[in-house]
Amino acid sequence: MRIFNTASASVEDFKPFDENCVRIYVCGPTVYDRIHIGNARSIIVFDTLVAHLRRKYKKLIYVRNITDVDDKIIARALKENAKVEKLTSEMTELFQQDAKELLCSQPELEPKATEHIAEMIELIKTLIKNKNAYATDDGHVLFDIKSFPQYGRLAKRSGKLEQQLEGDRAIALECKRAEGDFVLWKPQKCEEATLEGGNVVWDSPWGCGRPGWHLECSAMSRLHLGPQIDIHGGGQDLIFPHHENEVAQSKAAYPQEPFVKYWVHNGYVLANGEKMAKSRGNFHRVCDLLKEFSGEAIRLTLLRAHYRQPLNFSCERLLEAEKNLDRLYEKAYPDGCANPATTNAADTKQSRIVKIVEEALDNDLNTPLALAAIFSFADTISYKKNEQSAKEARMLKSAAALLGLLKDQSRVERRTADIIKFSSAKVEVERSEQKKQSIDEKWLQQKVIARENARKCGNFELADQIRSELEKFNIKIEDAKIN
Ligand SMILES: [Zn+2]
Repeated sequence: MRIFNTASASVEDFKPFDENCVRIYVCGPTVYDRIHIGNARSIIVFDTLVAHLRRKYKKLIYVRNITDVDDKIIARALKENAKVEKLTSEMTELFQQDAKELLCSQPELEPKATEHIAEMIELIKTLIKNKNAYATDDGHVLFDIKSFPQYGRLAKRSGKLEQQLEGDRAIALECKRAEGDFVLWKPQKCEEATLEGGNVVWDSPWGCGRPGWHLECSAMSRLHLGPQIDIHGGGQDLIFPHHENEVAQSKAAYPQEPFVKYWVHNGYVLANGEKMAKSRGNFHRVCDLLKEFSGEAIRLTLLRAHYRQPLNFSCERLLEAEKNLDRLYEKAYPDGCANPATTNAADTKQSRIVKIVEEALDNDLNTPLALAAIFSFADTISYKKNEQSAKEARMLKSAAALLGLLKDQSRVERRTADIIKFSSAKVEVERSEQKKQSIDEKWLQQKVIARENARKCGNFELADQIRSELEKFNIKIEDAKIN
């Protein structure tokens, strides 16, 4: 497989550190609200990538963290007078439900930041010891970016400190040595003391407080995946400062360790051409969309653009995706559940369409190319029921399964119900047609004979009367010459 590496800004051959086990870490959600369509893109893109690599390698470990300690969470809890732990555990559960609706598999591990505070404190101690971090009088610990000359390399921002201040989680502090220095540990604020429910504040050598956001991924990725991670992924907005800061923390603490081989980032989701924002009213939460559309339609819509390109999202596109899915299900399940063809059938695994889709995914996860091939293949499958079309239906399912599509049992069941309803309605129509026909035919025959006889006897008045009677039923009689 080939994949674009943000670090080298080029498409590279994918070669894991260890062929026997691929290690992938993706930054997960901050659980203070329901996820939006932008979050969904990242979840679906990496689900597709992970599934593709799982088919190639014996073993793969996929870790996606849950950020359950953060300023946004605390702000939400303060605003709603909610208990922090209750808020984050509810949001975590709802996030997992949404991911399931989007047909994404569960990662092997979903570590929570609050369960790894000890590892984060150890990491800060190492950074202070290595002279890459410093504690301030007011209880902060900051990373000293001037102590790490490679800072800015991942995001290609080296040397421009003003650029390094971007990002909504950067803070202005008087005690900073350089403006770009970022927080590893922050002291508890007075208003936070009123918060209930735990998971807000922890003891540390620098006083009561909590870790900075960037720290958790450095600590948790190393604990769960070790010093060599093949792919570290997330949305494009995470390149700076989040991933840049992760590189600084991990490489400064453990200079001999490789950390990450491939940095992979998905592009933004735009709504009607604009950046999504709550204030603009073009903000789509997945749970709201799921009230009207299937998770599979959302998945299909998000996979129709290449993962690195910006994606213009609209509800019209979801509507179109539903129609396209109907088209595919019709071809993949011509008999609904009545004749379930297995997707793993040996005769389809090596099929041309499966190979085309695999090749497209091998080529920097080119899902739009894969989908275009699937749609044109579906169009060639005949509606006629024969062995060939049944085999092609199985091929279509095998190919679509590589993108996590056409596996929705509830959609197949709905389709089966429609088929049963349709065929029983058809039988009813056929019965009544037969009934009508058998009566009509007999009646018609009698009328035709009666008219024929009337003509033969010269009773043209009766013959015309019968002809007009039949014309009321749209039956026209063409007279042959009487010999
Ligand atoms: Zn992260």
